Amino acid sequence: MIKVLVWCENIQNKTQEDVIAVYPEGMHNTIANFLREDPDISVEVATLDDPNCGITEEKIANIDVVLWWGHVGHNKVPDDIVEILYTNVVKRGMGIMCLHSAHYSKIFKRLMGTSCSLHIPPPGLGAEKLWTLLPGHPIAQGIPNPVEIETEECYNEFFDIPQPDELVFNAAFVNCGSFRAGAAYHRGRGKVFYFQPGHETVPVYRQKEIQDIIFNAVYWANNKTKNK
Ligand code: ZN
Repeated sequence: MIKVLVWCENIQNKTQEDVIAVYPEGMHNTIANFLREDPDISVEVATLDDPNCGITEEKIANIDVVLWWGHVGHNKVPDDIVEILYTNVVKRGMGIMCLHSAHYSKIFKRLMGTSCSLHIPPPGLGAEKLWTLLPGHPIAQGIPNPVEIETEECYNEFFDIPQPDELVFNAAFVNCGSFRAGAAYHRGRGKVFYFQPGHETVPVYRQKEIQDIIFNAVYWANNKTKNK
């Protein structure tokens, strides 16, 4: 059984009409619900609303893979929570997936060691093609090339991340630009995957191919080795 924690700041999910319209159940529950269809995956959710962000040493010690979505609340996550996550990735081999605007989360910046900023502000929404660059990579298995996304938020390079260990997907946006959309890293004993689709006002987490990529990434990031 792979134990997954889906974490979402859950701010816009409660306050912004155009987000509530797309994800009335909350985006973390949307993600958790499709993952739960796999009998080999058990899923918990946590948000900023929970005491301690729903994260304690004891709880994280039992998690194999964390999915992290944040946007306007990055700074509301206390530094000691970030250190719990970081230590579990590098020392215990917990996997972590940082989704969409979590490129600028404290934990992703901590793991990358760069600013992780987008040097051009996102210019708006548009069609996206997600191209596979590493067809032999576990995260790309069974995924059509390209994946066509009707509407997503256009992200442009330059994206200030370290050179990915494995650059699995690259995004091309109509009338916008290009972006390293699926970047895999090894940090200590753990694996990290950054995945760009997931803007809060478009239903991309309901798209089958995006769900399949997330499934693949959960399996790729899972590491049962408990060596210290
Ligand atoms: Zn966004």
